[in-house]
Amino acid sequence: MAKKNIVVVGAGFAGVYATKKLAKHFKKNPDVEITLIDRHSYFTYMTELHEVATERVEPEHIQYDLQRLFSRRKNVRLVTDTVKNIDKDKQTVITENGSYQYDQLLISLGGESNDFGTPGVKEFGYELWSFEQAMALRAHLAEIIRRGAAELDPAKRKAMLTLTVCGSGFTGSELIGELIEYRDVLARDNKLDPNEITLQLVEAAPTIINMLNRTQAGKAEKYMTKHGVDIMTNSMITEVCEDHVNLKGQDPIQTYTLIWTAGVRANSVVKNFGIETNPRGGRLMANEFMQAKDCDNIFLAGDSTSYQEPGQPRPVPQIVQGAEETAATAVQGIIKNIDNTDKEIKPFHGAYQASVDSIGSKYAVAQVLDNWNVSGFIAVMLKHAINWLYYVQIFSGYYLFQYFMHEFFRTRNRRNVFRGWTSRMGNVLWSVPLRFFYGAMWLWDCWTKVQGSESWFTDKLRLPFSWIQVAATSGASEAATKATSGASEAASSAAKATKGVFSLSYMYGKDPLMVFEKSPHWFEAVTKVFIPNMQMALFFQKFMTCVEIIIALCIFFGLFSWLANAITIGLVVVFCLSGMFYWVNIWMVFVALALMNGSGRTFGLDYWVVPWMQKHFGHWWYGNVSSHYDAVKTR
Ligand SMILES: Cc1cc2nc3c(=O)[nH]c(=O)nc-3n(C[C@H](O)[C@H](O)[C@H](O)COP(=O)(O)OP(=O)(O)OC[C@H]3O[C@@H](n4cnc5c(N)ncnc54)[C@H](O)[C@@H]3O)c2cc1C
Repeated sequence: MAKKNIVVVGAGFAGVYATKKLAKHFKKNPDVEITLIDRHSYFTYMTELHEVATERVEPEHIQYDLQRLFSRRKNVRLVTDTVKNIDKDKQTVITENGSYQYDQLLISLGGESNDFGTPGVKEFGYELWSFEQAMALRAHLAEIIRRGAAELDPAKRKAMLTLTVCGSGFTGSELIGELIEYRDVLARDNKLDPNEITLQLVEAAPTIINMLNRTQAGKAEKYMTKHGVDIMTNSMITEVCEDHVNLKGQDPIQTYTLIWTAGVRANSVVKNFGIETNPRGGRLMANEFMQAKDCDNIFLAGDSTSYQEPGQPRPVPQIVQGAEETAATAVQGIIKNIDNTDKEIKPFHGAYQASVDSIGSKYAVAQVLDNWNVSGFIAVMLKHAINWLYYVQIFSGYYLFQYFMHEFFRTRNRRNVFRGWTSRMGNVLWSVPLRFFYGAMWLWDCWTKVQGSESWFTDKLRLPFSWIQVAATSGASEAATKATSGASEAASSAAKATKGVFSLSYMYGKDPLMVFEKSPHWFEAVTKVFIPNMQMALFFQKFMTCVEIIIALCIFFGLFSWLANAITIGLVVVFCLSGMFYWVNIWMVFVALALMNGSGRTFGLDYWVVPWMQKHFGHWWYGNVSSHYDAVKTR
């Protein structure tokens, strides 16, 4: 059977989602190949563009390498190329450097900023609908504030220190929220009073954030005003010039920074495709199965698609949920065409669970299921949860981990929802002495177990497994038992007399208190299953000692230090539950936690081993990541 080619153009939210689903469905069908074409070698996590533009996150944090995303899917070919056109008759996608034949095509080329023909936006304004635009804005913001801080002419200085955002939709309001926080960073770096930097939000409508209900929009507005944003409603920008912006019927704004977020339209390349577009926004018109008109094998998804459900006032919104849901419908159609089944496919139905508008890293407002309004910390966490869900949907543990790192644990300037409390940027050198001490302590503990009369390597049971000790002694003569019973009673009454005392440091003259005097029943029952007899128990005690020695050496020499310390926490828990651990030693848990900070990366073997593993295992698992993919090389 001839190979069937599915070509997906645009590896954004819709394209990646669809390719993942298609690759999974056809993974056992060698006759189907999926080609994913994008102008970048990475998927741009668009919803964080404003965070990159304002230096909350680094550029690489929103560039998700496509090879990493699809390395486990051998039926996906990656192509880095710019799509120029499609030839419907020849069923071919034409790119800058070649052409790709398709049997089924999915067009998900996204959107771009719409300036509605306003003069000067392209020449003097800044936009925020691509990675390149975010980087250009980032460079400009740093540069203009640096120049403004050095400027002595008061009028010019003020214009340079005025940052104006046009449009109060999601992009505009989220950007102004980031600018609120970035203002302090820019002011500090340029030795300015933050109040010298003016933030303006300009909106043509009488109200702002009009995609949310008035209660939520009002809360966001209050937050912005409280943080010094100058909100100008009923203000329509008519022209953008290098050092000012003209408004309809109002005085011009003196600024060198106009960021245009007032509209979004379909990627302009789609107008070449010979597919019907809607007049407003140039989006490709889809039917309820996300097919282009009169083209059964051309499917549409994401921001470049327009479909208006019956009874809805507007087409599918240009948001991530819209992109995924349209992609999900398109995927069903492609599968049906390839599998040639009669299976009914469900027509598109948009169900948008939540709209969250984050105003910086610490505040957000949200509308959930159209019924609930949430704001502040919960809304911020809701936005994070939506992002986590996305990584689950595209099966990417790697980027989920990276997200946690850059949004919570490695943020600069306290710019996260926990106000920087969760962020580590310190030097792990300080923990090296502690690591040596902790490793040495474990080694010392092991030393007492491998030699001398207390050795755990003899055939004498050292572990307090009552069921084994009882079994071992039950065969002994009753006489011996009787002879010793008096002595043991005396010993036990002596033990009662020296009852353990709770303390977290050693109290002179007192016996320390056990965390558990005796194993809890449930733990004993579990242990009995794994260690039912003396033979197993002796093996286990020797095995555990070997494990301890390995862990101790790893900690001391800084090898796999995160894992080794995590295991010591596990061991402490087991020792506690076995009735073998004193409260005074509980500090070991906290030391192990502290040493999970990458303490082996300085003066430890992890300095060499971790990068080596990242390189070799990363390569083995993800293949060759590259700045450019082409179909032949990745085939
Ligand atoms: C700053 C910002 C914040 C946002 N915040 C939110 C939010 O909080 N919640 C939300 O739901 N939505 C948000 N959005 C909107 C959301 O990002 C989009 O709706 C979503 O990205 C649309 O997905 P898509 O797959 O259609 O397009 P995209 O994700 O834009 O993907 C299009 C892909 O096509 C590629 N491409 C384009 N042209 C070509 C070409 N000629 N050849 C080859 N490849 C090409 C691009 O490189 C890109 O990878 C935000 C958008 C921005 C800009």
